[in-house]
Amino acid sequence: MTRTNSRRALPAALLAVGLALAPGTATAAPEDRPHVTIIATGGTIAGKAEGRDTYTSYRAGTYPMSDMLAQIQPEVGAFADVDVVQFGNAGSGGYTIEQYRELTLAVEDALEESDAVVVTTGTDTMEEFAYWLDLTVQNRKPVVLTGAMRPWAAGETAGEAGVLGADGPANLLQAVRLGASGQTYCFGTVLMLNDEIHAARDVTKGNTTRNDTFITRQLGVLGWIDGADVHVQRAPARVLDCAQEEWFTPFDLSEVAAGSLPRTEIVYNYQQAGGEAITAFTEAGVTGIVTAGTGAGGISSAPGQARRAAIAEGVWFASSSRTGSGTVSGGGTGIIAAGDLLPQKARLLLLLSRAFTQDIEQAREWFATLGTPSFDQSALAAVLSPTPGAAPAPEPTPTEPAPEPGATAEPTTAPPAGPPAGEEPPAGEVPGGGEPGGEEAPDGAEPTEAGGAGGTGGPGSADWLPALGAPVQGALTVAALALLVGGTLYAYRRRAFTVAFGE
Ligand code: ASP
Repeated sequence: MTRTNSRRALPAALLAVGLALAPGTATAAPEDRPHVTIIATGGTIAGKAEGRDTYTSYRAGTYPMSDMLAQIQPEVGAFADVDVVQFGNAGSGGYTIEQYRELTLAVEDALEESDAVVVTTGTDTMEEFAYWLDLTVQNRKPVVLTGAMRPWAAGETAGEAGVLGADGPANLLQAVRLGASGQTYCFGTVLMLNDEIHAARDVTKGNTTRNDTFITRQLGVLGWIDGADVHVQRAPARVLDCAQEEWFTPFDLSEVAAGSLPRTEIVYNYQQAGGEAITAFTEAGVTGIVTAGTGAGGISSAPGQARRAAIAEGVWFASSSRTGSGTVSGGGTGIIAAGDLLPQKARLLLLLSRAFTQDIEQAREWFATLGTPSFDQSALAAVLSPTPGAAPAPEPTPTEPAPEPGATAEPTTAPPAGPPAGEEPPAGEVPGGGEPGGEEAPDGAEPTEAGGAGGTGGPGSADWLPALGAPVQGALTVAALALLVGGTLYAYRRRAFTVAFGE
């Protein structure tokens, strides 16, 4: 791991000339520029291509970050004072969980001095890097992950033979801009690629090759960057705890000895899947297994049997879905419902849970609450008036006599029907109901009763008709009949005309 400050290493006079000539860059006084550390791990962004027009044939993790950063100077120096930690230079898939632990400590170390950290990685597992850091970094300052879908250059150095349309330089520039802006303070880790900002917990790689590969299904992006303008229009749930100690996760890796993190794995389910993978992982000493089940988490019979045997051996399971979005609920003995976590994210949370507690109920609570928003305003309906200007409804006191029915001046608002806040639906023993037997409830089995234009009192209702009186009703009926007959005659004649003469 090497640390350099490329901006400080530039001759000051050269930098001053560069900053003065850079078009469209508003320069802040050096002492006012936020300090951003780039921690580089490699990936396609540092890739060397075979040719300037070669996007898919390249060697990832080749150029050092100091070399790449020099290519986006002096522009980046106009708004940030940047230094570099070369943590490694490899493809994203080459990193171990032990190295993830070291990366967390490196980020925390950098944030002691810096205002923000940008971590560059390969995009293949960037979402895992991001969620790991989101779960473990004990600092409220911004952490931004970025990388590229196209290699940086095709020359001996990052400054020679730049790949045509390479996205790396722009992504690096914008990631530093986002970190320096401070706008994601208390957001935890975010991922910025292709000018889009995503929450680490929810983002996933959605395409093998496209520059806009990262998507956040169901929830969407947190914001975007247009030129120099950072727009953040949504926040991850943990921002709600910004001022509380609860903002910090329980996973402080400075308390964990090197080499002591447990193994957790993922088993994919499909038609007539076998149970051998679960058995083999259990025999190998794996402490937690995430099942990527079908639909809402179902698994076939054989893995179901193997799961029961593994649970008896003390293995914890997290039940997730292979569908790519949606929630898995329920749980049971030895099984935690992964909620809306994708299997690869659930696996990291299961790993950290096994490292930090022996109590599966504690782990279950972390799965249910860490990073998950809980917006239920229904209780406010009992104490707040729904209309502007009115004072909040007074809370009834035990000394006041109960009001006579119908005697209240103000209409009262009943809370919406539904289970009381915090009450959970009964938990099934097996999430998704898929095992044993693999059967699932058909989607949309419950027909909805109300709604649509036919509901009583809605915009399409005819409740007002009787109020008009018999004579008016009669006149309206005659008028409606006349319209019907006239319209039919007109349509018939027009059709005859069209048949005879064309349009
Ligand atoms: N293709 C990957 C990337 O986009 C390689 C990697 O993940 O290291 O960076």
